[in-house]
Amino acid sequence: MMGHQDPPQPKLFYPLLTLETRVRSNHPLRAIAQLIDFEFVYEEVAQTYGTKGHVSLPPPVLLKLMLLLVFYNVRSERELMATLPERLDWLWFLGFDLDTAIPDHSVLSKARTRWGRAVFQALFERLVWQCVEAGLVDGAKIFLDSSLIDANASNNSVVDTQSLKAQLTRTYRELEARLDEPVPEPSHPQGARPVNTRYVSTTDPDAAIVRRGNAKLRYQTHRAVDSRSEVITAVQVTRGDVNEAHLLVPLWQAHHANTRRMAHTVVADSKYGTIENFLACHERGLAAHMPDLKQAADQRAAQRQHFADTQFTYEAATDTYRCPAGQVLRRKSWHRSRQSLDYAAPKKVCAACPLRSQCTDNTMGRTIKRHLHQEALDHMRARSHSAPARRDLRMRQHLMERSFARGTRYGFDRARWRRLWRVQIQEYLIASIQNLDILLRYGRDPRRRLALAVRDLGRALPLGSLHPFARVSCS
Ligand code: SF4
Repeated sequence: MMGHQDPPQPKLFYPLLTLETRVRSNHPLRAIAQLIDFEFVYEEVAQTYGTKGHVSLPPPVLLKLMLLLVFYNVRSERELMATLPERLDWLWFLGFDLDTAIPDHSVLSKARTRWGRAVFQALFERLVWQCVEAGLVDGAKIFLDSSLIDANASNNSVVDTQSLKAQLTRTYRELEARLDEPVPEPSHPQGARPVNTRYVSTTDPDAAIVRRGNAKLRYQTHRAVDSRSEVITAVQVTRGDVNEAHLLVPLWQAHHANTRRMAHTVVADSKYGTIENFLACHERGLAAHMPDLKQAADQRAAQRQHFADTQFTYEAATDTYRCPAGQVLRRKSWHRSRQSLDYAAPKKVCAACPLRSQCTDNTMGRTIKRHLHQEALDHMRARSHSAPARRDLRMRQHLMERSFARGTRYGFDRARWRRLWRVQIQEYLIASIQNLDILLRYGRDPRRRLALAVRDLGRALPLGSLHPFARVSCS
């Protein structure tokens, strides 16, 4: 018999209805609520509140609201608050009831300004440590890469700080006033200078114009990812025009601080393969599995059909180089800034050389540069071409692309907010959620953890040396 629906008759009371029963047992927010003890926020932000006046929303609720914003990639905080009364699962996660007053969207921006980024960093670091405790972090090998984030500002907001016209406009005077505000932290790590300081956005002065594809205002996020289960162990956001090579050591240090594991191998692309980075790795006893920038220079020389630097032989006993024509190149000059010596043959020897067209276009003759720590550099470069290094580099490409691709689900490629410290908060939230996802995927399933352990063993041993039974248990 067909049933008929009566006209809706709203009840005054629902004695049998609770949010607890309305949220399914395997809902991801239940797992997140179990994994994170949000009470830690009270202690983290205690010093940012006074003892009198208006009573704020509890800090754990504010943090949960920001987590929901990013986890569900809600477009804006207004939309989050407008959707909140319709979502029973969100209400349950926040500890609200059906009749709890929905806060104004402005509480979130006020909380960020009050707290700063430290509490979000603490959330990220706590989750990294939970991954370590769950056995999901090996710690010995890290993969580094960076990706651009579109700033929340229009290209039309960019002004030329050297232009007279710009200085006369009201907008520029406003910008100057805004730039006078104390900035919580430099927009680039120590040693890394931004490329373009002439053009500044009046909307977001920390963002930089980057020409990759279209010229746009951008930030750059830098990540260290552990090899075992792709946990993000360190993140840093900079202006878009900062050279990522300068982030190698800070990321390695942050990985060590967050995981309490010393990474012995750093895997990165050719942009990180600078002399400074190879020597920094040598100093710290790290294997640097990254293509050499020098190799690219040698390839360019080969395209011009010139001899590569490697075709010049160094003779340590006399501290000279022997060129392909058999001539001797002696010390010519010392460059303090790049810590290198130049070696050259006399100008007239090069001028009369029959191999000159294959060697140089310079009228002064060919010059070879030798770094003060050339032996260490050669050793590191040789290791970067080894078979394990090539295997790691193949793995890096997919691993880092996956990490950033997963971040796009949570809107990592577009800044929600303005100014560097806020974009850093966004990145901490996204990286925390990505690590939560890994904890949920691997941490609770012993079979997956076993598979990870066997895979680690497979990587450590030469191919074919695993006992066949181990392979069966892995599958
Ligand atoms: S041009 Fe000078 S450095 Fe080059 S091969 Fe001839 S002599 Fe040697």
